Amino acid sequence: MSDIIDNIRDFDAKLLNTPCRLVAVSKTHSPEKIMEAYNAGHRLFGENKVQELLEKREQLPHDIAWHLIGHLQTNKVKQIAQFIDTIQSVDSLKLLAEINKRAEQFNRTVPVNCMLQFAIADEETKYGMSYQEAVDLLQSEEYRNMHFIRITGVMGIATNTYDEEKLRSEFRTLRDYFERLKETFFYANTDFKEISMGMTSDWKLALAEGSTLIRVGSGIFGARQYNK
Ligand SMILES: *Cc1c(COP(=O)(O)O)cnc(C)c1O
Repeated sequence: MSDIIDNIRDFDAKLLNTPCRLVAVSKTHSPEKIMEAYNAGHRLFGENKVQELLEKREQLPHDIAWHLIGHLQTNKVKQIAQFIDTIQSVDSLKLLAEINKRAEQFNRTVPVNCMLQFAIADEETKYGMSYQEAVDLLQSEEYRNMHFIRITGVMGIATNTYDEEKLRSEFRTLRDYFERLKETFFYANTDFKEISMGMTSDWKLALAEGSTLIRVGSGIFGARQYNK
């Protein structure tokens, strides 16, 4: 049996009886490798670049639920709005408005699931909103008039460190944001339920801190090769 199938089965077993699901992050990996995970029964995959996602999607079964997990420029939204299951990396009202507009143009019957990305790490290069920016977005008239998107939760990328206390504290911050937003804006709304946090090196900690979506790449597909 291939390593990829083994890894998928391992995660399936580990996440059984938890509220957490696995996003298999397939960036830089070939459609053939994705098909190994697919044939092991996996249907939830994450990519971080629009162009790469489009190329792979063409070669793969269409019952895959694709999550975009990388920064998304507004001018690229129209290329994915027809089929994308979830955009985890929403970091502005402007981007959300564009997603809504394009989803409407495609007459989507199912809204685009959108997650608010927060900056929880101390690295400046990481995208994401502050808590107040999210509050402003959710209070805006414009947001309230969007009917082709729905906000399903929050997402964050922790600092790249082995410091467990630091990681835990960043995951707790994201969970706290989730809970405060839930209470304030989504009290009776069952769509708002996801906390996307945790990757290959820190998913166990993230799960312990309440993650509902872990995003694992190298832990499933092996090391990434950027040079081909
Ligand atoms: C690449 C990536 C991951 C997966 O990283 P691994 O360390 O390979 O598990 C998770 N989240 C985001 C946003 C990524 O870009």
